Amino acid sequence: RLQIDAVSKRFGADYAVREVSLDIADGEFLVLLGPSGCGKSTLLRMIAGLEQPSSGRIMVGGNDITDEAPQRRDLAMVFQSYALYPHLSVEKNIGFPLRARRRSRAEIARRVREVAGTLELSALLERRPAALSGGQRQRVALARAMVRDPGAFLMDEPLSNLDAKLRSATRAELIGLHRRLGATFLYVTHDQVEAMTMATRIALLNAGSVEQVGTPEELYDRPRTAFVAGFLGSPP
Ligand code: ATP
Ligand code: MG
Repeated sequence: RLQIDAVSKRFGADYAVREVSLDIADGEFLVLLGPSGCGKSTLLRMIAGLEQPSSGRIMVGGNDITDEAPQRRDLAMVFQSYALYPHLSVEKNIGFPLRARRRSRAEIARRVREVAGTLELSALLERRPAALSGGQRQRVALARAMVRDPGAFLMDEPLSNLDAKLRSATRAELIGLHRRLGATFLYVTHDQVEAMTMATRIALLNAGSVEQVGTPEELYDRPRTAFVAGFLGSPP
C-alpha cells in the first residue's frame, strides 16, 4: 500500500504539486491524468525518490520512505525516453539493475531469460538498442524495470514515442502484464483514452491539485467539477 500524504513541491514561489493525498492499494492500476504542466511527472518523480517534496510524506506499507534513496525503494521507474544504455546489449541492459546489486552471474542469467521470455525479447538479447524498433526498446525498458520484481511500477508516458498502432498494441500488453504480475502500476499520461482503457482508478490533476479520484466510469458519469467533465468529454 502506497500512501501519498499532503505532498507538495514548490519551485521558487510556484507550486508544481499542491497538497496531493492519494491512497493506492496493492495491485491497482492508477493513472495520473491531466493536462501538460499539471504536475504529473513531478509527483511521480517524488514517489520514485528522484525529487524531494517541499512538504508532505510518502509511505509504503506504513513506513515513511520520504527520505529514502531511490535505489532502496521497492519500485521501478520507466521513462518516456526509455533511457537504455546504448553501448550495452539488450541482455546487459535488462540485467543491469541486478549487476548493480551484485547478484551472482547465474542468478542474473536465469532472471534475464525469464523476463525476456515474458516480454518476447528472447531472440533479441545480443542486439544493441540502436538496432531495435521503438516498441522493442519500450519492452526492453519494461524488462529492465521488471527484473528486480518490484512491488510497484512507475511509468511516465511510456508510449508517447510510439506510433498509434504500436501504442494500442503495447497498451494491451501492459494491461496483460499488470494482470499477470499483480504489481501496483502508477501510470502518467495526458491521454484520456489511454486512461479510460487502462486504469482501475484515475486521479485527475489540475494545476498541481487532485480534482477527482475514482474509477473511469465514476469520473466520466459523475464528474465533480466542470474541469473533470471538460477533460473527459462527459455529456452535459
Ligand atoms: P507534461 O504533461 O507536459 O509532461 P507534467 O504534468 O508532467 O506535464 P511537470 O513536469 O510535473 O508537469 O511540471 C509541473 C510544473 O512544474 C510545470 O509548470 C513546470 O514548468 C514546473 N517545473 C517542473 N520541473 C521544474 C523545475 N526543475 N524547475 C522549475 N519548475 C519546474
Ligand atoms: Mg510530464
